[in-house]
Amino acid sequence: MSFIPQAGQPGGIIETDAVIIGGGPVGLFAVFELGLVDIKAHVIDILDKAGGQCAELYPDKPIYDIPGLPIVTGQEITDRLMEQIKPFGATFHLGQQVAELTRLPDERFRLKTDGGKEFIAKVVVIAAGGGSFTPKRPPLAGIEAYEGTSVFYAVRRMESFRGKSVLIVGGGDSALDWTLNLQPVAKSLTLLHRRDEFRGAPHSVEKMRALAAEGKIRLLIGQVAGLHGDGSRLEAVTIKTKDGEERLPVEVMLAFFGLTMKLGPVADWGIALDANLIPVDTAKFETSEKGIFAIGDINSYPGKLKLILCGFHEAALMAQQAYKYVYPGKKLLFQYTTSSSSLQKKLGVS
Ligand SMILES: Cc1cc2nc3c(=O)[nH]c(=O)nc-3n(C[C@H](O)[C@H](O)[C@H](O)COP(=O)(O)OP(=O)(O)OC[C@H]3O[C@@H](n4cnc5c(N)ncnc54)[C@H](O)[C@@H]3O)c2cc1C
Repeated sequence: MSFIPQAGQPGGIIETDAVIIGGGPVGLFAVFELGLVDIKAHVIDILDKAGGQCAELYPDKPIYDIPGLPIVTGQEITDRLMEQIKPFGATFHLGQQVAELTRLPDERFRLKTDGGKEFIAKVVVIAAGGGSFTPKRPPLAGIEAYEGTSVFYAVRRMESFRGKSVLIVGGGDSALDWTLNLQPVAKSLTLLHRRDEFRGAPHSVEKMRALAAEGKIRLLIGQVAGLHGDGSRLEAVTIKTKDGEERLPVEVMLAFFGLTMKLGPVADWGIALDANLIPVDTAKFETSEKGIFAIGDINSYPGKLKLILCGFHEAALMAQQAYKYVYPGKKLLFQYTTSSSSLQKKLGVS
């Protein structure tokens, strides 16, 4: 953990009780448990939606081992958690990776995202699961030079593609959704997939095929074989189809080849790690650094199971210890939601 000499001025910096890194199921439930003990949280996630693995990797698959919910899909559990935490008004900062975490001289923490946001928090809860979802890079020579100027793996602002010749590569939901959304905005749009079968939602496939039939987009079956440009701006790509090679003029290539999970910047924050996981004690779920907690798939302890229900338990115990940092010297009374009118007031049910 590195120490920085000055806290900096609060202008533009968000000051809060807690920052939760990761909006997966465990990060979401942490909002609830912290909220019950009057700790306000901001949630930051790289993905453009909440739900972590549940929403990104298996939204339609059933989960059978959530207590009290005999069957629930990955997306449903996310939606239910979002509803459950609504009373606590957590602020979400999506599409942002927490890149830096440092301790201030006053023992609080400063966090910075790759999107330029800065936070100062009394406690930090790392609920980063398997780590950062990172886009898979197409294996094309020199592609790195075009990333961020002509080659993208996500759409942050649709407007930046207005009036451009766009190539979208991929066959899943992201490729299809952005084909449908960017078609009215782009000057021209080509969708390229290696086979004439798409993994995305059937109604998106239908809409995309209708646009192709009307000549509003071009659908090509094949692969990108090369990039051409001045080394920073793309001018054309070589596409290999079963009929041969074609040089397609494009200004922008959006590649949706799926995501892998890497530990990412968590490794650089000076917290003790063990085989890419964060060891914690099972009474408080605190890391080697006081005030920094790790819950869910990212932590390790004897007997750890990477299950959502274990992460929920960890969030409850973490909140009890976090209270001591946010409200030093104050005693926390243990209460049930069933019978405590003050908890019910916080939940907006009384
Ligand atoms: C196919 C499949 C089926 C499964 N079935 C079950 C099941 O039936 N029952 C069960 O209990 N579990 C199941 N699991 C496991 C379960 O999904 C995980 O245990 C759970 O998602 C862990 O939740 P989490 O919140 O700890 O992490 P995650 O869901 O991984 O969420 C972590 C979030 O942190 C974000 N993040 C990481 N690093 C940063 C950073 N630096 N800055 C900002 N954001 C960051 C990530 O983008 C991610 O959204 C399954 C998993 C898979 C893949």
